[in-house]
Amino acid sequence: MPIIRVALNVPVDTLFDYQADDASERDIGLRACVPFGNKRVTGIIVTVCTKTQVPVDKVKTAYHIFREINPLTPALLELFQFCSQYYHYPLGMITMNSLPALLRNNKAVKLKDAAQTRWILTDLGKQIEINSIPARNRVARRLLSEFQIASALTRSQIKQISQRAIQLITVWLQLGWIVEMAAKAMPQSTERIPELTTEQVAAVSAVISDFAQFQTWLLHGITGSGKTEVYLRLIAYALAQDKQALVLIPEINLTPQLVAIFSARFPDVLLINLHSGCNDSERLTGWIRAQRDEAKIILGTRLAVFTPMPNLGLIIVDEEHDSSFKQQDGLRYSARDLAIFRARQSNIPVILGSATPSLETYFNATTHRYRYLRLTTRAVQNATLPDILCIDTRHHKMLDGFTEPLLKALEKCLTDKHQSLVFINRRGYAPVLLCKSCLWTAHCHRCSSRLVVHLKNRKLSCHHCGHQENFPLACPKCGNQDIVPFGHGTQRIEETLTTHFPSARILRIDRDSTRRKNAWQEILHAIHTQQVDILVGTQLLAKGHDFPNLSLVGILNADHSLYSTDFRASERLFAQLMQVSGRAGRANIPGQVLIQTEFPDHPLYHALRQHDYTALAQTLLAERKIAGFPPYVYQAILRAEAHNLETALDFLQQAKNLAPPLQAIELFDPVPAHFLRLKGMERAHLLIQSRSRKHLQSFLNDWYPKIYTLPHRKTRWMLDVDPIEP
Ligand code: ADP
Ligand code: ZN
Ligand code: ZN
Repeated sequence: MPIIRVALNVPVDTLFDYQADDASERDIGLRACVPFGNKRVTGIIVTVCTKTQVPVDKVKTAYHIFREINPLTPALLELFQFCSQYYHYPLGMITMNSLPALLRNNKAVKLKDAAQTRWILTDLGKQIEINSIPARNRVARRLLSEFQIASALTRSQIKQISQRAIQLITVWLQLGWIVEMAAKAMPQSTERIPELTTEQVAAVSAVISDFAQFQTWLLHGITGSGKTEVYLRLIAYALAQDKQALVLIPEINLTPQLVAIFSARFPDVLLINLHSGCNDSERLTGWIRAQRDEAKIILGTRLAVFTPMPNLGLIIVDEEHDSSFKQQDGLRYSARDLAIFRARQSNIPVILGSATPSLETYFNATTHRYRYLRLTTRAVQNATLPDILCIDTRHHKMLDGFTEPLLKALEKCLTDKHQSLVFINRRGYAPVLLCKSCLWTAHCHRCSSRLVVHLKNRKLSCHHCGHQENFPLACPKCGNQDIVPFGHGTQRIEETLTTHFPSARILRIDRDSTRRKNAWQEILHAIHTQQVDILVGTQLLAKGHDFPNLSLVGILNADHSLYSTDFRASERLFAQLMQVSGRAGRANIPGQVLIQTEFPDHPLYHALRQHDYTALAQTLLAERKIAGFPPYVYQAILRAEAHNLETALDFLQQAKNLAPPLQAIELFDPVPAHFLRLKGMERAHLLIQSRSRKHLQSFLNDWYPKIYTLPHRKTRWMLDVDPIEP
């Protein structure tokens, strides 16, 4: 009796064995509905075998194997296995959570919209004679003759023959009688395709000359240097070879713009956009089309790295430095790193693109682990980089957060009918409620963070746990009634601007104003059609957008990140300011960037004024080398949270006591986390690092199962491999 070993969405790192009399090797990668406890659950068949360790009388029988869609490819199963080993996370949870929600439940999937799939006979299939099929298999005979007549059949045509005929498709695919006819991939575009700059040509031809094998490329191009055009050419090359391309982009709202660009360039190609806004059935359809090789271009945020793509030929990770490629809960994977794994697995090139590469990537490029491509000039003729100037706030009086020179510059922009952008650095900073007489500030009672002021609805809200409350009428500590919002969040900045420029059309962009569906499209439309004079916003605005009429960027509160306890804060601030500066002066309007700061002589601002990524990267790398931080070491963090800090610390100490002998490993002491309290829990962590990834991994392999043996009823714990947050 065949045994199927199934990956289930349960928090134990093991597969579950079931009897399934109709199972065979070719069911590997299919979904199976099985009994688990007293429930019916669905999992993925990882192996089919004949033996099990489970006593015969205990082995349960699977209810059903779903065969209506193709099984997961071996490559994808291998990717899950790698994830499970590397991130020390249960295989079943990885597998199930990477699937579209509709594949995780006990129902067969119904594809509303699969008309596009067509099957044709293979050379082998064409040799089959009707008479070789037993006459009692009427449906099979009928299906074969339909194929011989029509040459290509769609699902609905096959359904008309009979329901049983659909089931035959899976079998015939396995037998190699038929194949799916790939969607036509002949790029034909009416859009004007620009002639490449010399640097773009060099980049494109370097990658193409090495296209048939695994290689990681860093495409380091300043903002506006035309990285997208390089991607487009490489994708065209992949499509011409009938290959699929996977394009990963950060978790922000760049997709509408990119989708528009890609679809205009490749109008005949099925492009799937997998982002967090997709509903379940959109995600399922996209996923299946990618798996069937109908979709040729998959564009998506980090989860898209798990899309099945049997014919993958190229991977692009745009804005590779972006922290949203790293998932911050559950399976803490880095989609960028997994993209590299997939490229190696498929023996294809992967392009990491950025204007400000992460230091890890830059380090790998300069030490020749990756190949390094540079674009140093802007692609559009005459477009130059903006002038970046610092306004020393020690010498200029602040007026509601603005200095005189910045207000003047904004005014000039208005007169010239150009757009401007006021960028607020929010990292480690938020407008708080402050009592000027006793210096009391409003804190969240559930976590240790300060509450953020939202003037519009006169609420205080916690940006860490979501808690909200009303403004107090007076200071709870000293009774003073004159408590004021301190600092300048986006709303307050907007108010100040309204007062100063009553006729200006001001648009605020933040998480709140972009939450609605299509909000981004409307915002971008407003910007592009000149319905906006001044944009106000945070990180969200910094990335990738192309605003041709924007000529001034004002930057507020950047200093907060200069002296942070997080060793990555400078790197991030620099990347952000480079990105946001890159918004200015993209087309024919020269741009200017004004930074309000108390520390104009800081090396970071120096490098920024010179547009010199390399100078800063080298400075930061030198610092990290001395301090022994990544990329010179590899890290993992064991995180624990409990109702009180003692419990969390105690758990970590016990875990530390269980550590196997250290081989080239540094194991630190448990410490309270930076944001101590989160959602009513207190958090602590324990850092492990090593100069060798291999040593780190083998240490974790030994240690991890031991941690499981600890009683942890009162503690929630998790391991974060290659953490990017302290
Ligand atoms: P990046 O992503 O590197 O910041 P983009 O890809 O957004 O830059 O390109 C910036 C602008 O330059 C876009 O408007 C794009 O259409 C244009 N562009 C790109 N390549 C060329 C080229 N070879 N000739 C003319 N314009 C180009
Ligand atoms: Zn007070
Ligand atoms: Zn809170």
